[in-house]
Amino acid sequence: MTVSKTPSDALLAELNEAQQQAVRHGDSPLLIVAGAGTGKTTTLAHRVAWQILQGTSPRRILLLTFSRRAAAEMLRRVDDILQAVGKTSRESANVFGGTFHSVALRLLRRYGEVLGLGAEFTILDRGDAEDLMNVVRTDLNLSDGKRRFPLKGTCLAIYSRCVNRSAPLKTVLTEDFPTHLSHEANLGRLFTAYTERKESHVVLDYDDLLVFWLALLENPQGAEVVRGLFDRVHVDEYQDTNVLQSQILKRLVPDGTGLTVVGDDSQSIYSFRAATVRNILDFPEDFPDSSIVTLEQNYRSTQPILDATNRVITESTEWHAKKLWSERTHGVRPQVIRCADEESQSSFVIEQVLNAREEGVRLQDQAVLFRSSYHSAGLELELTRRNVPYRKYGGLKFIESAHVKDLLAYLRLAENPRDIVAGTRVLCLLPGIGNARAGRLMESLRDANGSFAAWREFKAPASTRGQWEPFVKLLDELSSGPLLESSVATQVERVRTFYKPLLEDAHDHAAVRMRDLEQLEILAARYADRASFLAEVTLDPPSSTAELGDPAAPDEDDWLVLSTIHSAKGLEWDSVFVLQAIEGSIPSEMATGSPEQIEEERRLFYVALTRGKNNLFVCHPQRIMGQRNQFFAPSFSRLTPFVSDEVRSTFDEIVYSPEGHTDAAPKPESSQSVRSRLNSLWGEN
Ligand code: ATP
Ligand code: MG
Repeated sequence: MTVSKTPSDALLAELNEAQQQAVRHGDSPLLIVAGAGTGKTTTLAHRVAWQILQGTSPRRILLLTFSRRAAAEMLRRVDDILQAVGKTSRESANVFGGTFHSVALRLLRRYGEVLGLGAEFTILDRGDAEDLMNVVRTDLNLSDGKRRFPLKGTCLAIYSRCVNRSAPLKTVLTEDFPTHLSHEANLGRLFTAYTERKESHVVLDYDDLLVFWLALLENPQGAEVVRGLFDRVHVDEYQDTNVLQSQILKRLVPDGTGLTVVGDDSQSIYSFRAATVRNILDFPEDFPDSSIVTLEQNYRSTQPILDATNRVITESTEWHAKKLWSERTHGVRPQVIRCADEESQSSFVIEQVLNAREEGVRLQDQAVLFRSSYHSAGLELELTRRNVPYRKYGGLKFIESAHVKDLLAYLRLAENPRDIVAGTRVLCLLPGIGNARAGRLMESLRDANGSFAAWREFKAPASTRGQWEPFVKLLDELSSGPLLESSVATQVERVRTFYKPLLEDAHDHAAVRMRDLEQLEILAARYADRASFLAEVTLDPPSSTAELGDPAAPDEDDWLVLSTIHSAKGLEWDSVFVLQAIEGSIPSEMATGSPEQIEEERRLFYVALTRGKNNLFVCHPQRIMGQRNQFFAPSFSRLTPFVSDEVRSTFDEIVYSPEGHTDAAPKPESSQSVRSRLNSLWGEN
C-alpha cells in the first residue's frame, strides 16, 4: 500500500536534514548562516512556501532581498515549489517583496503622513543627491577652492556613511575619512543645510528612505500600523545589511517572532555602503531567543572547484571555519589561463564560450565576471564584432546616462514642482539659462505654489525665446493639464518630442541616445502611474537597454552574461570566467588602503569563484595597457595575489595563444628538482 505524501512532506523531501529543520522551524527568530551554494536562498524559498502551505497569508509575509531581480527570482522559486506539490494558484504574487529601499518607499507612500511626509515626495538618485549637496556647499561658501574642502561626491559619501552606520560625524571621519577630519565643523553645517534643503524641496535621497522607515517605526502610531502588517519577515544576504537596516528589523519585530535571516559572512562585499557582518554575528544577542542553522553541503559546484574556493577563503584573516563539500566529486579542475594581453583574453573567452555552446551549453549558462565595469570594454567590442549577443549587468546604469536623466527630470519636476534638482536640470538645458536664473525661476515657482503658469511672465533670453512657451505649456500640462491624465508612456513621448532638439544640441551620438529614450517609453508603458514609474526606475534601475528587452534584436533568445562581481551575488552559471584577475584589478587599486579593504576584495574574488558550477576560468592577461604619465603604454601584470602558491596548487595552468593552441603551462620547477638535475650532472640521483 502506498501512503500518499502530504504537500508539506513533498516540499520537504527535496531538502537535506539541516535545510528541513530550517524550513520547519517555528516562530522564534532564526539565523541560517552558511557558505556559498549550500542552499540558503533555496531554503528560504522553501520556508516561504511552507508557511503559505501552513496557512500564513502571502500578504502577511515580508521578503527582503538585495535587488528587485533577486526578489522576483525568489518568488518564482516559491511558485515552482508550490506547483510541484500540487498548489497551482500564483500565491506568491501577494508576498510583500523587494529591497529594503523599495519596501521603505511603498510603506512611506502609504503611511508617511504620520511623519508629516506628503505623498508627493520624489526621490533623488546618488547623482542628484551629489548635485544638491554641491548647491548647498556653494551657498555656504565652502567651495572656494582655498580650503580644499572635500568634493561633492566625498561629502555625500561621508554623509551617507554617518547615516547608514548611525554613527556621529567625528567617528566616521576618524575611522573612515581621516584626511578630512579638519573639516568636521563645516561638514556638520553642510549636512544640516543639506537636510533642511531636502525637506523644503520635498525630496528624499536613498538613505532617507531607510531613515524615514526607521522613524515611522519609532513613532508609536506608525509602529503599530506597520508592525501589524506582517507575521513573517525574511531577509536574504543579511551579511550585506548595515546598522540602519538592522535597527529597522529590531523595531519591526522587536522580539524576533517570525523573523528569519540568511547570510554568509565570507561573502560580505558591501562595506563601502556601510554594511557590516556584525549584523550576522550579533544576531543571537539582538534576538536572544534565536536558533542558528548551519549548512555545509554545497550543491552548486564540483569538488575540484570547491577545493580552490575553500583554499581562497581559508587565507582570509577573518576566516570562520566553514569548509564546503560536494557529492559531485568528479569534474575538471579550475584553470588559470595565461593570455598574452587583453585581446588574447577576449579571444580565449569567446572561443571557449562558443565551443561550449556547440556542445549544448547555452550562452545564458555562461558568465564573464569582472571587478569594474570598464574591464569588459575590450571583450564587448569583440563580442559585437563577432556577433555574439550579450547582456551586461552592473556598472553604469542606463538610467544614469545624461539624456535619460534629462528626460526623467521633466517628469520629476511635474510630479514635484519643488524638486530643485530636477528643475535646475531642465531649466539649464535651455540656451541662455544658467544656475542663477534657474534658481530665481524655482523660487518664483515655489511662491506660486507650484503653478507653472507663474513662468509665463518670465522674459526669456533671446536665445531661448522660441522654446520658452512650449516648455511652460508642456510642464503645465504634465502637472495639472490633460497630460496628467494620460498614460505614463504618452507623457514620456511628449517630453521626448520637446527634448529632441535640445538633446541634439547638448550631446553627441544623438541618434543612439534617442533610441534609449524610445526604450524608456516602452518601459514606462508597464507602469500604471507616473509616481511609481519614477520611483522604481530610480530605486532599482534596469542596468541596460538590453534588460528592457531590446526590440532591435527580436530573434535574440540566448545571450552571454557579462556582470560585475557585485551584481553576480547569489547567482550561478555552468561556466564562469573571471576577467582580468591581476594585481590592480583584483584587488582593485582603489581598494587597497587598509587590511580590511583587502580582505573585502578577497571575499569579492571568493564570491566570483563560487558562482561556477562545472567550469571555472581565471584569466590572466600578462600585458595590459596602463596609463603612465599622460601616455598609454603596455606594462606587465601579475596574477592576483589571491591566487597564492597554495591556491595555485588547486588550479591547472594553461597558456593560451589565439591561433587555437592551448598548452599546459610548464610547471614551475621546485628548487629540489633543480638540485636533482644538477646532481645528475655528477652522476648522483
Ligand atoms: P549563495 O551563497 O551563492 O547565495 P545559496 O546558499 O543561497 O548560495 P542556493 O542558490 O540556494 O545557495 O543553492 C545553490 C544551488 O544548489 C542551486 O542550484 C540549488 O537549486 C541547489 N540546491 C540547494 N539545496 C539543494 C538540495 N537539498 N538538493 C539539491 N540541490 C540543492
Ligand atoms: Mg543565495
